[in-house]
Amino acid sequence: MNLSLSGEGHFGGFGGAFIPETLYQPLEELKAAYASFSADPEFNQQLNQLLMNYSGRPTPLTFCSRLTAEIGGAKIYLKREDLNHTGSHKINNALGQGLLALKMGKTRLDAETGAGQHGVATATVAALLNLKCTVYMGAVDMQRQGPNVLRMRLLGAEVIAAKAGAQTLKEAISDALRDWAENLEDTYYLLGSALGPHPYPTMVRNFQRVIGLELKEQVLKAEGQLPQLLVACVGGGSNAIGMFHPFLEDPVKMIGVEAGGQGIESGKHASRFNGGSPGVLQGTLTHILQDPDGQILETHSISAGLDYAGVGPEHCQLFESGRVDYTFATDDQALSAFKKLSQFEGIIPALESSHALAETLLRAKSMAPDEVIVCNLSGRGDKDLDALIKGGLI
Ligand SMILES: *Cc1c(COP(=O)(O)O)cnc(C)c1O
Repeated sequence: MNLSLSGEGHFGGFGGAFIPETLYQPLEELKAAYASFSADPEFNQQLNQLLMNYSGRPTPLTFCSRLTAEIGGAKIYLKREDLNHTGSHKINNALGQGLLALKMGKTRLDAETGAGQHGVATATVAALLNLKCTVYMGAVDMQRQGPNVLRMRLLGAEVIAAKAGAQTLKEAISDALRDWAENLEDTYYLLGSALGPHPYPTMVRNFQRVIGLELKEQVLKAEGQLPQLLVACVGGGSNAIGMFHPFLEDPVKMIGVEAGGQGIESGKHASRFNGGSPGVLQGTLTHILQDPDGQILETHSISAGLDYAGVGPEHCQLFESGRVDYTFATDDQALSAFKKLSQFEGIIPALESSHALAETLLRAKSMAPDEVIVCNLSGRGDKDLDALIKGGLI
């Protein structure tokens, strides 16, 4: 175990690398490779080319005129990560790490997935870069997200069911880490959010910063001012930190929105900042949902992508310093925002993104008409329609 909490990879008292001995060397190798390639102009040029010509970046900044008129407050804009290839921001990180794996001479990608969005993004990048690919997915999630399992297999990936515990994302991460430890020679572990041991939280954040960097230029051009407020949903925290990070030094308010599930009192939620406490989960010290004995609690959310007991460690620092506010939206609030955006703007958002949207609509109301609020639309909702129809919710 490397329990050191001083030095790199620490966000206030959070982060670090709480790992078994076997992963020490591969993480050192990853740190060195990332440090070297992230500073390499050729790597950056290749990545930018892929983001532009393969994923379709820059993604648009869309003004919601009907929604703004309906709510009657601040101007509501969406950063359209849903328009990326494969339908969410996950591809930004998958392309970055996939290219890094290739440069490191690896021939196989290993990943976990919850709803399947990260698995699909990783399988896509593996096909593009001619790498083998294995994706671990909880057996329960495989049943809930059948179409994404088919998609990954069609793309050439092997999908393996994680059958321990609750058979969801946490168990899939454990299996993917174990696979990595057993296949270090040829395998690159492609983690899907700003989570896990150092250097993953920093590396994933840097690959997602493209969201905030583009946004800053776009909003200055559209409005001649910085926005007053940024809003993003927080699962592991990668779309939120990617949007927020370039604005941290600016006078811009930010809100991260977690999954409130059926309400905090019900215990059926995934709000690590309302009911969680500091602890170690899957390699990092962060806010987690745990019982008094430190056993990880079951989480609940209508959106599989926000349904995880831990959160990216950098968000813990931003929470404790008060630089970013964290709140939650319930399943019902998210569903109502989901329908509203569909009907007022012709955009069907992912259920994850709908949490951010619910808070955006709430805040916009009490802001002035010359103020600007930008919601990160992390993904599109096509993937959610089956489950919503089966649940009788639409
Ligand atoms: C995975 C996912 C999320 C949650 O992940 P973060 O790392 O918190 O961004 C949010 N929205 C969509 C569409 C996703 O696929």
